Amino acid sequence: METVFFKMGTEETLDEKYVRKAGNCLKQGGLVAFPTETVYGLGADALNEKAAEKIYAAKGRPSDNPLIVHIADMASIEKIVRDFPEKARKLAKDFWPGPLTMILNKKEIVPKSTTGGLETVAVRMPDHPLALKVIKAAGGYVAAPSANTSGRPSPTLARHVLEDMNGKIDMILDGGEVGIGIESTIVDMSVEPPMILRPGYITEEMLEQSIGEVLTDPALLFLPEEKAPKAPGMKYKHYAPKGEMKIVEGSGGCVVEAINNFVANELENNKKVGIIATDETYSCYPKGLVKSIGSRSDDKTIARNLYAVLREFDEAGIESIYSESFQDGSMGQAIMNRLLKAASHNVIDAEQAELGGI
Ligand code: AMP
Ligand code: MG
Repeated sequence: METVFFKMGTEETLDEKYVRKAGNCLKQGGLVAFPTETVYGLGADALNEKAAEKIYAAKGRPSDNPLIVHIADMASIEKIVRDFPEKARKLAKDFWPGPLTMILNKKEIVPKSTTGGLETVAVRMPDHPLALKVIKAAGGYVAAPSANTSGRPSPTLARHVLEDMNGKIDMILDGGEVGIGIESTIVDMSVEPPMILRPGYITEEMLEQSIGEVLTDPALLFLPEEKAPKAPGMKYKHYAPKGEMKIVEGSGGCVVEAINNFVANELENNKKVGIIATDETYSCYPKGLVKSIGSRSDDKTIARNLYAVLREFDEAGIESIYSESFQDGSMGQAIMNRLLKAASHNVIDAEQAELGGI
């Protein structure tokens, strides 16, 4: 299959033409990747069983990992959910369009291929003008998981989508770099109190300010083998670069010293090593391929750069990656959730390492 790649923003009439083309392609059961404010999505008609199935094939995604249905206006919700509780209504009012996905009880019309066999459906209204136009042109319901090969870092640039999906999907709309860079917060509204199944830009605190008590799936704090997370997709190794990744925790100077020791060791063994640093520590690492993912004082930038940096290490053939840890800021939990998965929960205590314990 030839994948049409189109750079949006060149000319208004051309943009409109490609939105129409994308809409028609989706209506006919095709696959179109487009930007949202979180990451690039791989779209298919969410109400067309066969079209949704194609997403799993293109991504190599396990069939029990359900898709998020993207809508473009509030009127669309009634057709796909059995009930839309008062609290869900309030969250929609406060956070849609935006990076929040709600799990709701589904109506018959939503096929099982879209929901991975579940009786609930995940719904989101993205805050991106192009995404909203494409969804409307497609008839209003677009299932769109991240447009990467399953297990790889999510795409934050159209180029990342091309790397993974060229020849496997009908079309890619290039709308430039995404704004947030990590996937939406998922909150299960089919239970009481509502429960966060995946952390993201919208935090527990923000949700609680809107609707009162919200819990977080306790499994998010455990290894997937120890406790099964409630969102089926969260149990898979994810967001992972090709190289083996380790997170080094501890106080500033200790972390830098420990990472430099590990890097020296790896280089002696002729390994290609990468380091995830910050603007503050970038110059403290004399050896290895060092990438800064932003300033520690700016968690939003760190979130936006994370996946691109992991992909850059892949491009450079890096075999071993050492990362500082990033707990701070309102996005700290979401960033660490992705980093821990990318590193298969491989965390090293810098103080222990220094004492020769590791
Ligand atoms: P992605 O579209 O790649 O961002 O992944 C979608 C995420 O939403 C996965 O982690 C899914 O497990 C989760 N998800 C989608 N639908 C449901 C649902 N009905 N119940 C629980 N989790 C869901
Ligand atoms: Mg994904």
